Amino acid sequence: MLRLLLLVPTTTYRTEDFVQAAARLDVDLAVASERPNVFGERLPDNLLTLDFNDPEKAACEVAALARLNPFSAVVPVDDRTTVVGAAIANALGLPSNPVAAVSTTRNKHQMRLALGKAGVPSPPYFLFTLADDPARAARTVPYPCVLKPTILAASRGVIRADSEGEFVAAFRRIEAILKTADVVALGSGSDEILVEGFIPGNEVALEGLLVKGALRVLALFDKPDPLDGPFFEETIYVTPSRLPGETQTAVADLTAWAARALGLREGPLHAELRVNEAGPWVIEIAARSIGGLCSRTLRFGTGLTLEELILRHALGIEIESLERERRPAGVMMIPIPRGGILEEVRGQAAAKAVPGIEEITITIHQGQEVVPLPEGSRYLGFIFARRETPEEVEAALREANGRLEFVITPKSG
Ligand code: ADP
Ligand code: CA
Repeated sequence: MLRLLLLVPTTTYRTEDFVQAAARLDVDLAVASERPNVFGERLPDNLLTLDFNDPEKAACEVAALARLNPFSAVVPVDDRTTVVGAAIANALGLPSNPVAAVSTTRNKHQMRLALGKAGVPSPPYFLFTLADDPARAARTVPYPCVLKPTILAASRGVIRADSEGEFVAAFRRIEAILKTADVVALGSGSDEILVEGFIPGNEVALEGLLVKGALRVLALFDKPDPLDGPFFEETIYVTPSRLPGETQTAVADLTAWAARALGLREGPLHAELRVNEAGPWVIEIAARSIGGLCSRTLRFGTGLTLEELILRHALGIEIESLERERRPAGVMMIPIPRGGILEEVRGQAAAKAVPGIEEITITIHQGQEVVPLPEGSRYLGFIFARRETPEEVEAALREANGRLEFVITPKSG
């Protein structure tokens, strides 16, 4: 029987979808997490505790276990476990990305260096650390520009600045984020601020699978809401893209070039690009699949989920088709209207009744705090839609969101 090891970080939206995908395959499932689990003692072979911050040690530990009971595949379920996943896969001799390539994607400055060296179209960039004087730094960069932490995700701490004054304010705001305990704990890179030239244009996200170095495009999403800053809250993703065919080809070609430049060869890939008169530009490439619950928009062949497809590829099980189900689909990451305590979400039945709406999932519980960008790192929820055209999908998502009412009260103290 095939044996699968899932690497599950402490905070991720993806565990359930990956575990369900594994359940639909005939595999022996083992799960590794960072904290000892109460079931671990009873099921020592199938629940492991690993230090994801120490990939080499984790790889040695798994290799020792694998000598008794080999693993057929190791799959990181999210961003936080991609590097340790590659280290383990390499130690076990399983097909994988090189560890260095995955590490490069996890630091935005390293990524820019690698892409720049290969000549991949990407914005000009400048690296600063918290030890730098922001007023001085502000005089050395072009405007408009975008300031961002090098090691965070989901647009946390990403801020546009149009002037020296805005630059200094953004720098200070990012500094406060970088000094929070959860960021400091990430270690290397947590004192870095990358500044990039602002690339105007339409943004798209490409979902791909690398197979022996070749990029297979699984889906191209348009992001129809303008993302012009000062913060970059993700909202609507709709596939298929409405961009002209030749632009879509240019986006796929540039993504493949960027993946090669980074040294990525195997497994899921999620790329964000901007398209303007000069063509496509790479904003970011990650060695993982799409984040949040957004993968639920995708179905392949006769109904495979993205997670099943990723597991099958890793396990070497035949995949009948990488063709996305034809029907246009989309997701809205529900915008956070304001910060505070989420008391209630009204209008869910009315929102769900909008034609084409398949599912609405609120991911912040009642009584919990919602934090808008740039400080926030959690989504309020997700709305999913399927309809006959991308335009209808987009309209359904907007209509459903308009029917939701979030009762958020100011946080006391
Ligand atoms: P994260 O890993 O937090 O998602 P990104 O670098 O992908 O960080 O930035 C988040 C968003 O900010 C991007 O999707 C894009 O909309 C915007 N953005 C980032 N860098 C630039 C840039 N150089 N020019 C224009 N927009 C940018
Ligand atoms: Ca991104």
